[in-house]
Amino acid sequence: MTDPNCIFCRIAAGTIPATIVHQDEEIVAFRDIAPQAPVHLVLVPRAHLAGLNDLTPEVAPLVGRIALAARSLAAAEGCAVSGWRLLSNCGPDAGQTVHHLHFHLLGGRPMGGRLA
Ligand code: AMP
Repeated sequence: MTDPNCIFCRIAAGTIPATIVHQDEEIVAFRDIAPQAPVHLVLVPRAHLAGLNDLTPEVAPLVGRIALAARSLAAAEGCAVSGWRLLSNCGPDAGQTVHHLHFHLLGGRPMGGRLA
């Protein structure tokens, strides 16, 4: 299912431009429009899901495949060895602004030990 009003559904469908770095049948990855690190990619499922609060056991394997795509992308971006971070903001306290499940892949600089 996709949502025509969702910006990430539209990027996945190709109706809004983005710098796509990976796409397959179920996952699309693109460069974040406001990068917070030298490597800042956004990985999304093509299917619309608002966020991790909506994850079900049926959909959970997709998150594993997103992690595998992230691993390949970290290598392609040259930060597999130096280090990278994969995170998903869920809800207002986490600062989620786009309500389509997504994971940030961040790398290319030391990010320190603090997560919040
Ligand atoms: P979050 O705050 O976790 O919901 O993350 C949403 C992310 O999407 C932010 O880092 C934005 O910079 C990014 N973003 C929003 N619109 C676009 C876009 N059109 N292309 C690429 N990244 C986007």
